[in-house]
Amino acid sequence: MEIKALVLGVLDVNCYLVSTEKAAVVIDPGFRSVEALDFLKNAKDKERLILLTHGHFDHIGYADELASLTDTKIAIGEFDAPALSENTVNLSALFGAPLKPFCADIILADGQMLNVGDIEFKVIHTPGHTVGGVCYLCGDTLFSGDTLFAGSIGRTDFPGGSFEALKTSIKKLYTSNDDITLLSGHGGSSTILNEKRHNPFVRG
Ligand SMILES: [Zn+2]
Repeated sequence: MEIKALVLGVLDVNCYLVSTEKAAVVIDPGFRSVEALDFLKNAKDKERLILLTHGHFDHIGYADELASLTDTKIAIGEFDAPALSENTVNLSALFGAPLKPFCADIILADGQMLNVGDIEFKVIHTPGHTVGGVCYLCGDTLFSGDTLFAGSIGRTDFPGGSFEALKTSIKKLYTSNDDITLLSGHGGSSTILNEKRHNPFVRG
């Protein structure tokens, strides 16, 4: 499995291009990216999917356009699905760049195994940053969205945010294997063990 990180837009969101021989997955295409577009365009013979960690504008902003340009489906956790068509909830109204409302094709539940070609993602509901944020565990890689960062945690002062809920979610992530690599929505990578030991906000 190959993973490439693109850093997109003014908020430096990490958009991940995940590929194998049989699958091409774009995680969190928040802003327009020719590279993400070409990635899916060049994967016509593979199973493709656009996967969203949560419903904030900086993670979803290019999803709808990318999906229609490449005939790819969009998946998101069930409790953040409404955010795709609510500009006050996805914060695009607040940041002065309202999005065209759209819908996801696939709604994911906590604990669900999602198969794309030969890749398997486990869906882990991790509320706190948003009500319906999810992390995706794929082998020994965890795509943690804005739930857990290297040395930090997601903001909890937006609509639907809760520090208590986030803390519980992160503690749940800390029960995963220590050597799992953390690829988050912003900033650099880390490991579960690193964050358990050194995260200044939530320790394991
Ligand atoms: Zn966010």
